[in-house]
Amino acid sequence: MPAQYDLVVRNGQIADGTGGPLLDGDVAVSDGKIAAVGDISGTGREEINARGKVVTPGFVDIHTHYDGQATWDARLNPSSWHGVTTIVMGNCGVGFAPVRAHDHDRLIELMEGVEDIPGAALHEGLSWTWESFGEYLDAVERQRHDIDIGTQLPHGALRVYVMGERGAKLEAATGDDIAQMRNLSADAMRVGALGFSTSRTLNHKTVKGDPTPSLRASEAELTGIAQGLSDAGSGVIEMISDFNAPDLMTEWSMIRRIVETSRRPLTLSLAQGHGSANGWRSILGLIESASRDGLPIKAQVAPRPIGVLLGLQGTISPFITHAAFQEIREKPLNEKVRIMRDPAFRARILEESAQREKAHPLARGIMAFERMFPLGDPPNYEPPKETSIAAMAARSNRSPADVAYDLLLEDEGRAFLFSPFANYAEYNLDHCGEMIAHGDCVLGLGDGGAHVGLISDASFVTYLFTHWGRDRAKGRFDIGYLVKRQAADTARAVGLNDRGLLKPGMKGDLNVIDLERLAVKAPMMAYDLPAGGKRLLQGARGYDATIVSGEVIYRDGEPTGALPGKLIRGPQAAPN
Ligand SMILES: [Zn+2]
Repeated sequence: MPAQYDLVVRNGQIADGTGGPLLDGDVAVSDGKIAAVGDISGTGREEINARGKVVTPGFVDIHTHYDGQATWDARLNPSSWHGVTTIVMGNCGVGFAPVRAHDHDRLIELMEGVEDIPGAALHEGLSWTWESFGEYLDAVERQRHDIDIGTQLPHGALRVYVMGERGAKLEAATGDDIAQMRNLSADAMRVGALGFSTSRTLNHKTVKGDPTPSLRASEAELTGIAQGLSDAGSGVIEMISDFNAPDLMTEWSMIRRIVETSRRPLTLSLAQGHGSANGWRSILGLIESASRDGLPIKAQVAPRPIGVLLGLQGTISPFITHAAFQEIREKPLNEKVRIMRDPAFRARILEESAQREKAHPLARGIMAFERMFPLGDPPNYEPPKETSIAAMAARSNRSPADVAYDLLLEDEGRAFLFSPFANYAEYNLDHCGEMIAHGDCVLGLGDGGAHVGLISDASFVTYLFTHWGRDRAKGRFDIGYLVKRQAADTARAVGLNDRGLLKPGMKGDLNVIDLERLAVKAPMMAYDLPAGGKRLLQGARGYDATIVSGEVIYRDGEPTGALPGKLIRGPQAAPN
């Protein structure tokens, strides 16, 4: 008898994305879509035995920066190693279209500065065969991919395209500029953008140190662009703001009015600041009240600290400002390690550290050894306060720099120190648990494809399940609930109603997960970007199979060669 389905995943524990308890059963896929769920008697052309494994919809990561990589690379790694079958890029107002030929370098400098993607890699990797956003989408579509890609129109590129130098220099947009931006944003949505993104944070600067073009965009400009989305009848808005220009309530009222006027859904980055451990609650409270009034605003949140990885292979180490360290900074790793093991060199660095701490009372704060931890393998992203480098140093009567120096040399110089800069004010993740569970929050902020020398947070997705579903001593969630959060809820937040659930008619994107074995691997430095650029990569263990449109793309972490990923053009309706 011929097989009835293309693929049957048999005897798994199904987390179908609705958030309920796991149910034993099978999932069948045909023609790229879920064909049946439950007790399936027909056979599949391909069958996967999922006994003892959890079967989930593919995960949807709405916050990535693969805008360059997606034009030259078939694999959206690291995200596709983490069970992610759909990424959304073009976040934080940065990207590469629309663009005029004379602004190519400007957009590269912006991406390099904001997202720490090496300019040399972008220069070599980007083909610039596009000017309009639509032509950019065509270029992304010409490259085959492992997983699906959604795009957003980045404000930085849009503003420079319309206003040129004036846009880059943060000048106010004229009525004519705004009218053009509105038209272009409507056009971008019509050709397939899922939304528009903008940045209002001073943390986002070009590699030359200039603020991001959208930093002080007026309410009129933002409203105009949002109305472009309304004109097209689709599109979400992603925004990051410092909330301090001129003050929180002025900024918030403006954001609220933009959503009231445009009626387009908006997500806003939210994390716990280390200066005010409860500041996030005020912003979430405002979002709650907007939500009660029927405004589609959500906070975009992370499941763990957001922090930098310090190491001898990374962009920075705790000794980056030391003259002695500068001498060896560009040397290959083994050479660096050899020199650092020399007692005379070590003495020089530690002497410099001691001087620095004496000379600059703030140095300790900047170095922040109080909130710097050995990352370890497996990585520990919720380290107890007493394991900080400062605490270790105090216990052993050494200086923190002395302790850090040794830790950096571990694993032949490949070890990383983890220095959280958000979400770790109180040395625990209790508040992240609150955010994960909050109906007005959606998971994001992983920045896959970006910050490649400093941050490695695309692994948020796997960590959600290992830490919050399995390992944490308290405050754990049911796996079924977490699957809903990372699949269905994220997909809905960007208008993708055709995925995130294991239901007939939905996209045939699945994971078969060995939950006991599931793990976030230690980050490592790879030297595989165009022009030999380096990037932090972090894989996972325990994804037995990741399936896109019914095709297995990874089997136990190894690529199968299948590249069924598609560019998503516009919001997607739920199957009837
Ligand atoms: Zn971002």
